[in-house]
Amino acid sequence: MLFKKIEEFGNLEMSYLCDFSGGYISRNKSIMDNLDLNKFTQFVLEKCVHGTPIFKLGNKGTRILILSGIHGNELPSQIANLKLLNRMLYKDLNHTLYFIPFASPKSTMNNQRTLNTMDLNRSAHIKDSLSNLIVRAVEDLGINFVGDFHSTSFNSNPGIESVFSSKSPSAESYLIANYISQDIGCTVLSVDFAGSYYKGAVEDVCNLNGIPAITGEVVCPFANVGEGTVERSFAQMVSFLDYFGA
Ligand SMILES: [Zn+2]
Repeated sequence: MLFKKIEEFGNLEMSYLCDFSGGYISRNKSIMDNLDLNKFTQFVLEKCVHGTPIFKLGNKGTRILILSGIHGNELPSQIANLKLLNRMLYKDLNHTLYFIPFASPKSTMNNQRTLNTMDLNRSAHIKDSLSNLIVRAVEDLGINFVGDFHSTSFNSNPGIESVFSSKSPSAESYLIANYISQDIGCTVLSVDFAGSYYKGAVEDVCNLNGIPAITGEVVCPFANVGEGTVERSFAQMVSFLDYFGA
């Protein structure tokens, strides 16, 4: 995967994961009402028209991925991820950070959970699905840790602010979840073995591949941005990075 340097935004580099997932995120009113629209965020939205962009900052240390938008109708984490990337642009980093703020721009445009009826958090094990391409990119890029950030509505699963993790085969998943839980106050949800309840979650497939991963959840109605939800998701991401001293 070739990354291109984007001179106008400091040390930013970008590449594309695929070209079949593009969408006009600006058609999602809830996103636009809650986004800090500036030269950089406009640049990212424009890139999303053509597929799923992945951004990179820094060249040292541990390689960490902040992922969001696996479910296109879960909006707070996508806005928070873009905000975090924007804030990190000109920082001198001691780690290498990868960002995928909008995993499936087409789903986000349509405010839909799925991409062409496929649930991307149940299909990361299916060859050439979008989430499978993400998991493969994680391996190809030598990414060491993955944080996948979602939201959940009151009446769905899990329905509480939480961090999903598993104790094996990548034990550090559980340690990271506990760190975030104690740091910002949210529930740890953990299974003994990754993927034992259902198949194809990005977090589980990464953990099964030996790359410790967690899934962050904040409570927010689907396809909406509840008050304070972007901030809570942002806090989960910052805490995730804090675990690594990033
Ligand atoms: Zn989700």
